[in-house]
Amino acid sequence: MDDQILILGGGPAGMAAAMELSRAGKTPTVIEKASALGGLAKTLKFEEPDGTYLTDIGPHRFFSKNKYLYDFIENLLGEEWIRVRRQTRFYVDGKYYFYPIRLGNVLKQMGPFKAARVLFDYLYERVRKMIKPREMRSFEDYVVTQFGRTLAEFNMLNYTEKIWGIPCSEISIDWALQRIGGLSIWSTLKKALFKKGGPKTLVDEFYYPSHGSGLIYETIKKRIEEKGSTVLTHSEPLKIRCEGKRITSVDVKTPEGTKTYAPPSVVCSIPVTEAVKLFDPPAPKEVLAAAKNLRFRAQAYLFLTINREFVTRDNWVYYPDKSIPFGRFSEMKNFSRFMSPPGKTSLFVEFFCFEGDGIWNMSKDELFTLAIEWFEKLKLLRKDEVLSVHHYKASHVYPIYDLLYKERLTTIMEYLDGFENFFAIGRPGRFRYTNQDHSLEMGILAARSIIEGRRMDIENVGKEKEYFERGFIPTEK
Ligand SMILES: Cc1cc2nc3c(=O)[nH]c(=O)nc-3n(C[C@H](O)[C@H](O)[C@H](O)COP(=O)(O)OP(=O)(O)OC[C@H]3O[C@@H](n4cnc5c(N)ncnc54)[C@H](O)[C@@H]3O)c2cc1C
Repeated sequence: MDDQILILGGGPAGMAAAMELSRAGKTPTVIEKASALGGLAKTLKFEEPDGTYLTDIGPHRFFSKNKYLYDFIENLLGEEWIRVRRQTRFYVDGKYYFYPIRLGNVLKQMGPFKAARVLFDYLYERVRKMIKPREMRSFEDYVVTQFGRTLAEFNMLNYTEKIWGIPCSEISIDWALQRIGGLSIWSTLKKALFKKGGPKTLVDEFYYPSHGSGLIYETIKKRIEEKGSTVLTHSEPLKIRCEGKRITSVDVKTPEGTKTYAPPSVVCSIPVTEAVKLFDPPAPKEVLAAAKNLRFRAQAYLFLTINREFVTRDNWVYYPDKSIPFGRFSEMKNFSRFMSPPGKTSLFVEFFCFEGDGIWNMSKDELFTLAIEWFEKLKLLRKDEVLSVHHYKASHVYPIYDLLYKERLTTIMEYLDGFENFFAIGRPGRFRYTNQDHSLEMGILAARSIIEGRRMDIENVGKEKEYFERGFIPTEK
């Protein structure tokens, strides 16, 4: 029996917990199912005849208002933590628009009639809000009220439906409040006109690790192993035994066979829908039923290496139109020159799907045929310029906030958070659409809860800002 703190899942949340525990002199054991660390923020490496290509699973811009996190990563990466200029565009009705918007570009591409329609619908919604306000339950209710129907349909409702695979009228308003809560026509215009004062998604520069976001997590692995921690890949928990309000032991499948741990605490960032099934004695029926009804949206990806200096100067290009099979592509070289060999570039193409559906089941060649047809139609790329194609899939990508998710999640979390030495963290672990920064914060707070012996509010990081405001104190490397 091993008695170290156990961390299930080696994504950003799990690795941040491991790093923070290690900084406090603990030697946790990380259990990761995959071969590499970093979860959805890992970086894949491809050795090709013309050199090495790197790609994230959808490149990871780092953005946070929490300075502690920048210092936390800076301490890991030093000069490998670079600043990148941001350029994002989206494609609607045959035209490209910059995001954050540039007023001249929008008016030119949209034309006066559509612009007038946007304004009319917006004013209509303002008047309606005063006379007969809409009931606000869904993402659609929120976006239409806030922006007017024409702008909502322009690039918000269709892209959101493409991501989630369900109508916006069936997506909880929580998603709108979490993602675009601070966004309005005025804040967007203010940003376009004055280049400052906009909401948090509209930043023109961001930080990025020079060799992909996975560098953060591989560096954590190296640091914590040097200090006595253990990281087991190709490993997963099989059973989580509990007695009363405590976890007593965990069976883990490892490449060397099944091991049993008696950890003082368990930090868990594996999908909550999977975790609840591992409990012995089993979780209550209502908890298991609630978990069965929570769904994740999946993604299939293509990574294309390309015999050209650049395809675009964009970081990301979005395709909200549902007739275009992919939702977005990114050009990795525009994040860091180290992502492609000299003279070549690459594209990472994202398809949204459900595990087991048509897109999920497509072979690499089928998916490539679908994609390249569109790349040629969009005049971005010719088939003969593609040097190699790689195919990758991820199943637990987006926790779906449908209209009933909150109730179900509360049932599950009340059960899990009831164990005094179990800490559910992260995007799949708390069924919360986090970005890297929020997952890192959750991991750090779980670790601090263990170190300080008091449970912090892992979900509502804002409530624990006092801890982060104390500032990051580097430990000796
Ligand atoms: C396409 C895409 C683009 C993104 N872009 C950005 C961006 O630009 N900026 C940003 O900040 N964030 C971005 N994100 C979000 C970011 O990837 C996530 O917030 C972050 O990875 C969540 O970290 P996590 O540790 O909570 O979960 P995950 O990354 O999902 O990590 C969970 C880990 O648990 C492991 N695991 C699962 N099941 C088991 C099991 N049974 N046993 C053991 N291990 C298991 C997984 O393999 C994984 O390593 C993006 C996400 C996607 C999908």
